[in-house]
Amino acid sequence: MEPVALGIPSVPVRLAERRRARQIHVGSVAVGGDAPVSVQSMTTTRTSDIGATLQQIAELTASGCEIVRVACPTQDDADALATIARKSQIPVIADIHFQPKYVFAAIDAGCAAVRVNPGNIKQFDDKVKEIARAAAAAGTPIRIGVNAGSLDRRILEKYGRATPEALVESALWEASLFEEHGFRDIKISVKHNDPVVMIQAYRQLAAACDYPLHLGVTEAGPAFQGTVKSAVAFGALLSEGIGDTIRVSLSAPPAEEVKVGLQILQSLGLRERRLEIVSCPSCGRAQVDVYKLADEVTAGLDGMEVPLRVAVMGCVVNGPGEAREADLGVASGNGKGQIFVKGEVVRTVPESKIVETLIDEAMKIAEQMEKDGVASGEPAVTVQ
Ligand code: SF4
Repeated sequence: MEPVALGIPSVPVRLAERRRARQIHVGSVAVGGDAPVSVQSMTTTRTSDIGATLQQIAELTASGCEIVRVACPTQDDADALATIARKSQIPVIADIHFQPKYVFAAIDAGCAAVRVNPGNIKQFDDKVKEIARAAAAAGTPIRIGVNAGSLDRRILEKYGRATPEALVESALWEASLFEEHGFRDIKISVKHNDPVVMIQAYRQLAAACDYPLHLGVTEAGPAFQGTVKSAVAFGALLSEGIGDTIRVSLSAPPAEEVKVGLQILQSLGLRERRLEIVSCPSCGRAQVDVYKLADEVTAGLDGMEVPLRVAVMGCVVNGPGEAREADLGVASGNGKGQIFVKGEVVRTVPESKIVETLIDEAMKIAEQMEKDGVASGEPAVTVQ
């Protein structure tokens, strides 16, 4: 009999060859080349409030964020950058619109990178030479962040609206101005709030240059809509090997963005999968309250660091099969739950004991995995 593969596969099937982008370094985080796709977010505090900003960065770091961006709309914000960049546990990117002087301030402050939005910086093209010089001298990469909502007027007039071609032309034009000064320490984003336009823009950009790409659906919306839009757009692109760093934009606390970003990467096998609950949607055959059971098991195992797949199934139709193929599972029926560990039924418990038994067994498996060195925060898979 064929051996049954249990739990979470350590090397998920690769969907596509990774696009080979030149590699840059945003502080300690490599972006592009064969570096894992990184997850970033942006603080929502006033950057000038150094304490609040560092507190939020600490929370983001704890949630798995790898690069953080801070807004810099005023001189007070620019003045805060040096302390924030020095004290942050993760690389800090200064986000600059409108005022080129803050680009230089951010470079001087030791920010790990600077994001510029050429469409929003007056006479940006005239400043490129100076910016390229300062950034090259400091070893600071630049993100050219083109955004549908603030497209360069000249390009907007040419195309009439923010089409994929317009976004790409704007980005490549700005990149070419940097290239004229020998500066290629660049990553690019071409964001749009419509995933279809965004996907087309990134595909075109990916084919036209070798710069690492920062993926984003801009103004994606509240948590539910933004999560779906981002998952769809990033999923399409990442499954084609396009994308080197991602930012999920949600009208929600930034740690939520990180959670969604990490989950997208885990779902595509681009990150080590951690806790995964395989639960059925329930139906007329269910013999337990599957929603409640799945919620309680999820809450009980929250924060588990090991890659554990737990199946929570409502009846015997698919229950034993799924439960058998997970690290741990329950197949319910007749007010009881059959508890499976690594494919074997280890006990049958009354419905009231299912949650605590699963959590108890999960802890034992996690302990063993940790002893065996299975748990690790590092991505298990790098798509080449
Ligand atoms: S496992 Fe059973 S209860 Fe759950 S969806 Fe399938 S048939 Fe319905």
